[in-house]
Amino acid sequence: MAEKKKPVCMLCGRPSLKSICDACAQRVQSEQLGKKAQREKGGKE
Ligand SMILES: [Zn+2]
Repeated sequence: MAEKKKPVCMLCGRPSLKSICDACAQRVQSEQLGKKAQREKGGKE
């Protein structure tokens, strides 16, 4: 019962050396930027 956890991306579950793969990291970053921009836009209306 020695199940070693393979390093996978915590977002998409694909094998990745990082906890968040490059593709997801970019996605998260752009999503955060989008939310920020939306907030700023919404506040001005
Ligand atoms: Zn990923």
